[in-house]
Amino acid sequence: MSEPLMSIRNIETWYGPINAIRGVSLDVHEGRIVAVLGANGAGKSTLLRTIAGVIDPFKGSVVFDGQTIQGLDPDEIARRGVVLVPEGRQVFPFLTVRENLMMGAVARRDKAGLNDDLEQIFDWFPRLRERTGQNGGLLSGGEQQMLAIGRALMSRPRVLLLDEPSLGLSPLITKDIFSIIGRVNAETKTTILVVEQNAAIALKNAQDAYIMELGRIVAAGLSEELMQKQDVKEFYLGTGATTGADGRMQRWKRRKTWR
Ligand code: ATP
Repeated sequence: MSEPLMSIRNIETWYGPINAIRGVSLDVHEGRIVAVLGANGAGKSTLLRTIAGVIDPFKGSVVFDGQTIQGLDPDEIARRGVVLVPEGRQVFPFLTVRENLMMGAVARRDKAGLNDDLEQIFDWFPRLRERTGQNGGLLSGGEQQMLAIGRALMSRPRVLLLDEPSLGLSPLITKDIFSIIGRVNAETKTTILVVEQNAAIALKNAQDAYIMELGRIVAAGLSEELMQKQDVKEFYLGTGATTGADGRMQRWKRRKTWR
């Protein structure tokens, strides 16, 4: 395979005395959908926040398109094309859907084609078109997630970082959102790094996957290969005690080795 578009090496991130990321390395190849799976508290959000520059790593490097980006301002990292859709959406509640989407294009150097891009977003997310003039705060959870992703896409990212798009959403809406993520990736070749607790839907929709536990990567590979691993089936996909009906991990089980 060619050189990765983004290469993360030995990242270590701390919140004061808490060591949230303990030496993580991963590669993201251009045009792929890459999933990072793990239970609550595994360090997935911290990993994305470290890549996006929201928090600086204590150690390690993030190289994007041949340049080191760790330590840069989050705005600068976004300008270079690495754009985070944070957990919990964070849409502007008192701006309309259209205004929210336009906020995504603020830092864009080329302003040509904004209206075409807006049309494209509405094609992907028809529910947003129906609600163009409504305030962001009045949308449902699923629509807010769509708006947050749409807003990020208005900046024409090269790598879209998605923090738990399924959070708080019904299985049906989650499926919808992942199918749109798949379309965006297929139609624009935008590279996507998505972190998820819902392993089943993430593995189904990503080509490559990593599994994180307690701040470390414990398994990596093609999604379809990981899906066949006994431990992944048992602890992340199964009808086992650790997984609830919505596919989220309810309980934490430790084990020494991976099969
Ligand atoms: P979740 O799905 O709950 O977001 P996660 O896998 O994304 O889980 P993180 O949110 O990255 O995990 O958290 C990793 C570790 O860092 C956890 O132990 C968490 O308690 C801790 N942590 C996260 N944010 C902070 C913070 N702002 N201050 C202190 N500790 C934090």
